Amino acid sequence: MAGQLDGKVALVTGGGSGIGRATCLAMAREGAKVAVADVVVEGGQETVRLIQDAGGEATFIKADVSNAAEVEAMVQQAVASYGRVDCAFNNAGIEGPVCSTAEYTEEDFDRVVAIDLTGVWLCMKYEIPVMLEHGGGAIVNTASVAGLVGFQGISAYAASKHGVNGLTKTAALEYAKAGIRVNSVCPGVIETPMVKRAFEKSPAMEEGVATMEPVGRLGQPEEIAQAVVWLCSDAASFVTGHPMTVDGGLVSQ
Ligand code: NAP
Repeated sequence: MAGQLDGKVALVTGGGSGIGRATCLAMAREGAKVAVADVVVEGGQETVRLIQDAGGEATFIKADVSNAAEVEAMVQQAVASYGRVDCAFNNAGIEGPVCSTAEYTEEDFDRVVAIDLTGVWLCMKYEIPVMLEHGGGAIVNTASVAGLVGFQGISAYAASKHGVNGLTKTAALEYAKAGIRVNSVCPGVIETPMVKRAFEKSPAMEEGVATMEPVGRLGQPEEIAQAVVWLCSDAASFVTGHPMTVDGGLVSQ
Protein backbone atom coordinates (compact mmCIF):
# COMPACT_ATOMS: atom_id res chain seq x y z
CA MET A 1 0.00 0.00 0.00
CA ALA A 2 1.30 3.48 -0.88
CA GLY A 3 2.45 5.66 2.01
CA GLN A 4 0.67 8.97 2.64
CA LEU A 5 3.92 10.88 2.09
CA ASP A 6 5.59 8.75 -0.59
CA GLY A 7 8.25 10.72 -2.48
CA LYS A 8 8.04 13.77 -0.20
CA VAL A 9 10.79 15.52 1.74
CA ALA A 10 9.94 16.60 5.29
CA LEU A 11 11.72 18.98 7.68
CA VAL A 12 10.86 18.71 11.38
CA THR A 13 12.13 21.00 14.16
CA GLY A 14 12.31 19.65 17.69
CA GLY A 15 12.66 16.26 16.02
CA GLY A 16 14.86 14.86 18.77
CA SER A 17 12.16 14.36 21.40
CA GLY A 18 8.47 13.93 22.19
CA ILE A 19 5.98 14.99 19.52
CA GLY A 20 8.73 15.88 17.03
CA ARG A 21 10.38 12.46 17.24
CA ALA A 22 7.06 10.59 16.95
CA THR A 23 6.20 12.69 13.89
CA CYS A 24 9.59 12.10 12.23
CA LEU A 25 9.09 8.34 12.68
CA ALA A 26 5.51 8.46 11.35
CA MET A 27 6.52 10.58 8.34
CA ALA A 28 9.33 8.17 7.49
CA ARG A 29 6.96 5.20 7.82
CA GLU A 30 4.65 6.96 5.35
CA GLY A 31 7.44 7.27 2.80
CA ALA A 32 9.01 10.70 3.42
CA LYS A 33 12.72 11.44 3.58
CA VAL A 34 13.08 13.31 6.86
CA ALA A 35 15.46 16.13 7.84
CA VAL A 36 15.43 15.93 11.64
CA ALA A 37 16.38 19.26 13.24
CA ASP A 38 16.95 19.90 16.93
CA VAL A 39 19.14 21.97 19.20
CA VAL A 40 19.94 18.73 21.10
CA VAL A 41 22.41 16.69 19.05
CA GLU A 42 22.02 13.33 20.83
CA GLY A 43 18.21 13.40 20.64
CA GLY A 44 18.19 14.32 16.96
CA GLN A 45 20.77 11.71 16.05
CA GLU A 46 18.83 9.07 17.97
CA THR A 47 15.69 9.87 15.94
CA VAL A 48 17.69 9.47 12.72
CA ARG A 49 19.03 6.14 13.96
CA LEU A 50 15.50 4.92 14.81
CA ILE A 51 14.30 5.84 11.30
CA GLN A 52 17.26 4.21 9.59
CA ASP A 53 16.90 1.04 11.69
CA ALA A 54 13.30 0.81 10.46
CA GLY A 55 14.51 1.09 6.84
CA GLY A 56 13.71 4.79 6.33
CA GLU A 57 15.80 7.73 5.16
CA ALA A 58 16.75 10.62 7.47
CA THR A 59 19.49 13.10 8.23
CA PHE A 60 20.20 15.22 11.32
CA ILE A 61 20.58 19.01 11.26
CA LYS A 62 21.58 20.91 14.40
CA ALA A 63 19.66 24.20 14.63
CA ASP A 64 18.36 26.59 17.26
CA VAL A 65 15.08 27.94 15.86
CA SER A 66 15.49 31.25 17.69
CA ASN A 67 18.66 32.00 15.69
CA ALA A 68 17.91 33.33 12.17
CA ALA A 69 21.27 32.32 10.69
CA GLU A 70 20.90 28.76 12.01
CA VAL A 71 17.34 28.49 10.66
CA GLU A 72 18.44 29.70 7.23
CA ALA A 73 21.31 27.20 7.25
CA MET A 74 18.92 24.43 8.43
CA VAL A 75 16.63 24.92 5.43
CA GLN A 76 19.62 25.13 3.07
CA GLN A 77 21.02 21.90 4.50
CA ALA A 78 17.68 20.10 4.07
CA VAL A 79 17.62 21.22 0.42
CA ALA A 80 21.26 20.22 -0.06
CA SER A 81 20.45 16.74 1.31
CA TYR A 82 17.17 16.00 -0.45
CA GLY A 83 16.69 18.66 -3.16
CA ARG A 84 13.62 20.42 -1.73
CA VAL A 85 11.23 20.65 1.23
CA ASP A 86 7.63 19.53 0.63
CA CYS A 87 6.45 19.28 4.22
CA ALA A 88 7.63 21.34 7.18
CA PHE A 89 6.63 20.66 10.77
CA ASN A 90 7.68 23.71 12.80
CA ASN A 91 7.40 22.12 16.20
CA ALA A 92 10.35 23.04 18.45
CA GLY A 93 9.23 24.76 21.62
CA ILE A 94 9.80 25.21 25.33
CA GLU A 95 7.35 25.50 28.19
CA GLY A 96 9.05 28.32 30.13
CA PRO A 97 8.52 28.97 33.81
CA VAL A 98 5.22 28.34 35.58
CA CYS A 99 4.37 31.59 37.37
CA SER A 100 1.75 34.31 37.23
CA THR A 101 1.93 37.06 34.62
CA ALA A 102 3.33 39.75 36.95
CA GLU A 103 5.99 37.41 38.28
CA TYR A 104 7.51 36.65 34.87
CA THR A 105 10.98 38.13 34.34
CA GLU A 106 11.50 40.02 31.09
CA GLU A 107 14.32 37.61 30.22
CA ASP A 108 12.11 34.50 30.63
CA PHE A 109 9.22 36.07 28.72
CA ASP A 110 11.49 37.06 25.81
CA ARG A 111 13.08 33.60 25.65
CA VAL A 112 9.74 31.79 25.41
CA VAL A 113 8.53 34.16 22.68
CA ALA A 114 11.86 33.89 20.81
CA ILE A 115 11.63 30.10 20.56
CA ASP A 116 7.88 29.40 20.52
CA LEU A 117 6.70 32.28 18.30
CA THR A 118 9.59 33.99 16.53
CA GLY A 119 11.16 30.57 15.93
CA VAL A 120 8.09 29.40 14.02
CA TRP A 121 8.05 32.60 11.96
CA LEU A 122 11.78 32.25 11.15
CA CYS A 123 11.22 28.68 9.96
CA MET A 124 8.39 29.77 7.67
CA LYS A 125 10.43 32.75 6.44
CA TYR A 126 13.10 30.41 5.05
CA GLU A 127 10.88 27.43 4.13
CA ILE A 128 8.33 29.35 2.04
CA PRO A 129 10.75 30.59 -0.68
CA VAL A 130 12.03 27.03 -1.14
CA MET A 131 8.45 25.71 -1.42
CA LEU A 132 7.56 28.48 -3.89
CA GLU A 133 10.51 27.47 -6.08
CA HIS A 134 9.19 23.89 -6.19
CA GLY A 135 5.51 24.66 -6.81
CA GLY A 136 4.11 24.43 -3.28
CA GLY A 137 4.16 22.50 -0.05
CA ALA A 138 2.49 21.95 3.29
CA ILE A 139 3.46 23.58 6.57
CA VAL A 140 2.19 22.52 9.99
CA ASN A 141 3.08 24.65 13.01
CA THR A 142 2.79 23.37 16.56
CA ALA A 143 0.51 25.59 18.58
CA SER A 144 -1.35 24.22 21.61
CA VAL A 145 -4.72 24.27 23.33
CA ALA A 146 -2.98 27.21 25.07
CA GLY A 147 -3.11 28.87 21.64
CA LEU A 148 -6.92 28.81 21.79
CA VAL A 149 -7.79 29.56 25.42
CA GLY A 150 -5.92 31.00 28.41
CA PHE A 151 -4.10 28.84 30.95
CA GLN A 152 -3.07 30.19 34.34
CA GLY A 153 0.68 30.24 35.04
CA ILE A 154 1.96 30.09 31.46
CA SER A 155 1.30 33.57 30.05
CA ALA A 156 4.36 33.74 27.74
CA TYR A 157 3.64 30.26 26.40
CA ALA A 158 -0.07 30.99 25.84
CA ALA A 159 0.73 34.34 24.20
CA SER A 160 3.26 32.66 21.89
CA LYS A 161 0.91 29.83 20.95
CA HIS A 162 -1.95 32.26 20.23
CA GLY A 163 0.60 34.07 18.04
CA VAL A 164 1.44 30.84 16.21
CA ASN A 165 -2.22 30.43 15.29
CA GLY A 166 -2.39 34.04 14.03
CA LEU A 167 0.76 33.52 12.00
CA THR A 168 -0.61 30.26 10.60
CA LYS A 169 -3.91 31.77 9.45
CA THR A 170 -2.20 34.79 7.91
CA ALA A 171 0.42 32.80 5.99
CA ALA A 172 -2.32 30.39 4.85
CA LEU A 173 -4.17 33.28 3.22
CA GLU A 174 -1.03 34.83 1.73
CA TYR A 175 0.20 31.62 0.05
CA ALA A 176 -3.06 29.76 -0.72
CA LYS A 177 -2.94 30.54 -4.44
CA ALA A 178 0.74 29.60 -4.59
CA GLY A 179 -0.01 26.03 -3.50
CA ILE A 180 1.32 26.24 0.03
CA ARG A 181 -1.06 25.05 2.74
CA VAL A 182 -0.37 26.27 6.29
CA ASN A 183 -2.10 24.67 9.27
CA SER A 184 -1.38 24.20 12.96
CA VAL A 185 -1.93 21.45 15.49
CA CYS A 186 -3.19 22.33 18.93
CA PRO A 187 -2.29 19.39 21.18
CA GLY A 188 -3.90 18.85 24.56
CA VAL A 189 -1.69 17.46 27.31
CA ILE A 190 0.66 14.95 25.70
CA GLU A 191 2.97 12.62 27.61
CA THR A 192 6.40 13.92 26.55
CA PRO A 193 9.59 14.98 28.34
CA MET A 194 8.29 18.58 28.28
CA VAL A 195 5.17 17.69 30.24
CA LYS A 196 7.11 15.52 32.67
CA ARG A 197 9.36 18.56 33.37
CA ALA A 198 6.31 20.77 33.91
CA PHE A 199 4.87 18.27 36.40
CA GLU A 200 8.15 18.29 38.31
CA LYS A 201 7.99 22.11 38.58
CA SER A 202 4.34 22.06 39.59
CA PRO A 203 3.14 18.74 41.13
CA ALA A 204 -0.32 20.31 41.67
CA MET A 205 -0.63 20.55 37.90
CA GLU A 206 -0.16 16.79 37.44
CA GLU A 207 -3.08 16.00 39.75
CA GLY A 208 -5.42 18.28 37.81
CA VAL A 209 -4.42 17.28 34.30
CA ALA A 210 -5.90 13.82 33.78
CA THR A 211 -9.23 14.98 35.23
CA MET A 212 -9.09 18.07 32.98
CA GLU A 213 -8.97 15.84 29.87
CA PRO A 214 -12.52 14.67 28.98
CA VAL A 215 -11.12 11.33 27.75
CA GLY A 216 -9.60 10.84 31.21
CA ARG A 217 -5.99 10.35 30.14
CA LEU A 218 -3.02 12.16 28.65
CA GLY A 219 -2.42 12.03 24.90
CA GLN A 220 0.50 10.18 23.31
CA PRO A 221 3.00 11.81 20.89
CA GLU A 222 1.97 9.34 18.17
CA GLU A 223 -1.59 10.70 18.31
CA ILE A 224 -0.30 14.15 17.31
CA ALA A 225 2.00 12.63 14.69
CA GLN A 226 -0.97 11.03 12.92
CA ALA A 227 -2.73 14.39 12.59
CA VAL A 228 0.43 16.08 11.29
CA VAL A 229 1.03 13.36 8.69
CA TRP A 230 -2.54 13.78 7.45
CA LEU A 231 -2.29 17.59 7.32
CA CYS A 232 0.97 17.26 5.33
CA SER A 233 -0.50 14.70 2.94
CA ASP A 234 -2.40 15.27 -0.30
CA ALA A 235 -5.50 13.89 1.47
CA ALA A 236 -5.72 17.31 3.19
CA SER A 237 -5.51 19.23 -0.12
CA PHE A 238 -8.46 21.56 0.73
CA VAL A 239 -7.40 22.21 4.34
CA THR A 240 -5.49 25.41 5.07
CA GLY A 241 -5.46 28.01 7.83
CA HIS A 242 -6.87 25.48 10.29
CA PRO A 243 -5.83 25.25 13.96
CA MET A 244 -6.58 21.54 14.48
CA THR A 245 -7.21 20.48 18.06
CA VAL A 246 -5.92 17.02 18.97
CA ASP A 247 -6.80 17.29 22.61
CA GLY A 248 -9.13 14.55 23.83
CA GLY A 249 -11.95 17.12 23.88
CA LEU A 250 -10.18 19.54 26.25
CA VAL A 251 -11.25 22.85 24.68
CA SER A 252 -14.75 21.62 23.80
CA GLN A 253 -15.71 21.93 27.48
P1 NAP B 1 9.98 18.07 24.07
O1 NAP B 1 9.83 16.61 24.35
O2 NAP B 1 10.70 18.94 25.04
O3 NAP B 1 10.60 18.22 22.60
C1 NAP B 1 10.93 19.47 22.08
C2 NAP B 1 12.29 19.40 21.42
O4 NAP B 1 12.59 20.71 20.88
C3 NAP B 1 13.40 19.09 22.44
O5 NAP B 1 14.37 18.26 21.88
C4 NAP B 1 13.93 20.48 22.72
O6 NAP B 1 15.22 20.53 23.26
C5 NAP B 1 13.88 21.07 21.34
N1 NAP B 1 14.09 22.52 21.37
C6 NAP B 1 13.90 23.37 22.42
N2 NAP B 1 14.27 24.60 22.09
C7 NAP B 1 14.72 24.55 20.83
C8 NAP B 1 15.25 25.49 19.93
N3 NAP B 1 15.44 26.77 20.31
N4 NAP B 1 15.60 25.10 18.68
C9 NAP B 1 15.45 23.81 18.30
N5 NAP B 1 14.97 22.85 19.10
C10 NAP B 1 14.61 23.21 20.35
O7 NAP B 1 8.53 18.74 23.91
P2 NAP B 1 7.14 18.24 23.25
O8 NAP B 1 6.17 18.08 24.35
O9 NAP B 1 7.39 17.18 22.28
O10 NAP B 1 6.75 19.61 22.53
C11 NAP B 1 6.86 19.79 21.13
C12 NAP B 1 5.97 20.96 20.78
O11 NAP B 1 4.61 20.66 21.14
C13 NAP B 1 6.31 22.27 21.48
O12 NAP B 1 6.15 23.35 20.59
C14 NAP B 1 5.27 22.33 22.57
O13 NAP B 1 5.01 23.65 22.99
C15 NAP B 1 4.08 21.73 21.88
N6 NAP B 1 3.04 21.22 22.76
C16 NAP B 1 3.30 20.22 23.64
C17 NAP B 1 2.27 19.77 24.44
C18 NAP B 1 2.48 18.66 25.42
O14 NAP B 1 1.55 18.43 26.22
N7 NAP B 1 3.60 17.96 25.41
C19 NAP B 1 1.00 20.34 24.37
C20 NAP B 1 0.78 21.35 23.45
C21 NAP B 1 1.82 21.79 22.65
P3 NAP B 1 15.36 20.69 24.90
O15 NAP B 1 15.05 19.32 25.45
O16 NAP B 1 16.77 21.10 25.09
O17 NAP B 1 14.38 21.75 25.32
